[in-house]
Amino acid sequence: MRLPIYIPELPAQKYSCHGCGSCCRDFTVQLTDADMQKLHDQGWKERLGQEYVVKFRGHSWLKQTDAGACVFLGDNGLCKVHAEFGLEAKPLACQFFPFMLSPNTRDTHVGISFACGSVVASKGAPLQTHRDDVRRMGELLPASAPMPVKLQGQLIATDAEVSMVEGALDGWICKKNISPAVRYQGLAWLITSLLQANLANMRGEKLRQLLRTLTNAVEHELPLLDWPEPTPRAWKLLRQAVFTRIEDPKIGDLLKRGKVASVFGQWSRSRKWAAGKGMTPKTQGFCSIDFAGFENTIGVFAIQLNGDVQVQKTAPHISSSHSLAGESAAAITQQQDAVAMDDLLQRWIRATILGGRAWGSGLYGLPIDQGLGLMLVNLLTALWLARFHAAGRGAQSVSLLDLQVAVGRVDRTSGRAVWLATTGERLRVKWLSHSDSMRLLVRALV
Ligand code: SF4
Repeated sequence: MRLPIYIPELPAQKYSCHGCGSCCRDFTVQLTDADMQKLHDQGWKERLGQEYVVKFRGHSWLKQTDAGACVFLGDNGLCKVHAEFGLEAKPLACQFFPFMLSPNTRDTHVGISFACGSVVASKGAPLQTHRDDVRRMGELLPASAPMPVKLQGQLIATDAEVSMVEGALDGWICKKNISPAVRYQGLAWLITSLLQANLANMRGEKLRQLLRTLTNAVEHELPLLDWPEPTPRAWKLLRQAVFTRIEDPKIGDLLKRGKVASVFGQWSRSRKWAAGKGMTPKTQGFCSIDFAGFENTIGVFAIQLNGDVQVQKTAPHISSSHSLAGESAAAITQQQDAVAMDDLLQRWIRATILGGRAWGSGLYGLPIDQGLGLMLVNLLTALWLARFHAAGRGAQSVSLLDLQVAVGRVDRTSGRAVWLATTGERLRVKWLSHSDSMRLLVRALV
C-alpha cells in the first residue's frame, strides 16, 4: 500500500526548475540497478562514444567530466537524457531533485533541498502545485517496510507526539515580533532542552505540557541565562562540523589520486580546520583566508543598536511610519538583507522540520532529539560559512548572497552524506548540547 503524500503548507516557499544546471554540476549521482538498465536500454554508450558509469566503493555512479559536470549535461545546459527521452527516462535521483521524500508509518513527508538555487531564492510556483509530480515520485520509491519515528534512543514516537514536536518548534520559528537573534537563540535553547531531557518520562500529554511550558518560557528564560563566550573547544567542534559539510571530493579526483593520498589529504585538511589557525586550507569552491579575519566580521543580523542586535521586520522603504532621515543607503540595504535572511532561515528550518528531513527516514533514521541537534549544527555551520564568505570577499558584514550560498552548501550534504550519520557526528552534537554551547554559538554568530 502506498502512503499518502504530505506536502507541508509553506506559503513563503516557492520552487520551479529554472534549468540552471547547477545540480548537474554539483552532485555525484548514485545509480540503482533499474537506472543502470534504463540507461543501457537507451544506448548511451554508443551515443556518447564513452562509458557513462563509474564504479566506486562497490556502487555505480554517473560519470563526471574533468570539470566535475555530469557526463549527460549538454553544452546548452540541459540534460541529454531528458532532452532525448523525457523526465521519466532519467535516473531516479535526478527525477526527484530537489524534492526529498521521507516515508514513515503514517505518510510520506515531502521535503525540499536548499541546494537548489530556485528553492533557496524561493523562485517559482507554490509547493502544493507540484503534488502530481511528487505523487508520481512516491510511486517510484522502492517498496520497503515503513520506518517508525523514534523520540529518543529506541523509544518509538506516536503520530501525535511527532505532530506535537513539529507544531511546537514551527510555532516558535513563526513567532512574530521577535528579533532573529531571539528566534534562533530560542530555537537552540528549545532543542538543547529536548536533548537534555529524559523523554522516556515525558510521553503523550506530558510531552505536550513540556513543549508548551518550554515554548511559553523561552522568551523570558533567555535574558536570565548566563551568556559567556563559547569556549575554544566549542569553536573547534563547529569548525570540524563545517569541514565535514564542505569537504566533498569528486569520485574522479579520488580515483586519480589514489586511496592513500586522498585519505592523507583529507586527514591533513581536517586537522587544519580543527586547529583554526593561519590560513584556511584550500577546499574545493572556497578561497583561502586567515581564520583570524573572522573576528572582524560582524554577525549575520548585524545592525548594532545600543549594543543589541536588532532588525526591522518591515523593510524601511515600504514602511510609511519609518523615517529614512539620517540613514545611509548601505544601512538600508543591510536592513533589507537582514529581513530577507531571516525569511530564508525560517523557510529552511520550517521546510526541514515539516518536510520530514529533521529525523527518521529523512535523516539517517535518527530519533527526533538527535535529528534536531544535527539540524541545529547545520544552522550553526551555515551561519559560520556565511561569515566565511563575507570575510573572503573582504566585506564587513554578511550579505543575503553569502547566506544563500552557505545554506545551499550545507543542505546539499544533509541526509545525503553518510559521514554525518557516524558516531563522531553524534558525539559532537551531544557535547555541544550538554555543554550548552549551541545557544552560545548561535548568539556569537547571529
Ligand atoms: S539546481 Fe534547481 S533550478 Fe537548477 S537545474 Fe537543478 S533543480 Fe533546476
